[in-house]
Amino acid sequence: MAYQVDCSQGDEFMIKSEDEHEVIEHVKEHAKEKHDMDLSDDEARDMIQ
Ligand SMILES: [Zn+2]
Repeated sequence: MAYQVDCSQGDEFMIKSEDEHEVIEHVKEHAKEKHDMDLSDDEARDMIQ
């Protein structure tokens, strides 16, 4: 099973990986760079579909 996150902020960011940790790290990096948001691991994990 793959883990997937689509950014909900109206941009084109999407990540899909078999590695949950990798998805979380990419989501946190994207949120920081593009949205100036500091997400916790739990918040990033909550976005996984
Ligand atoms: Zn975004």
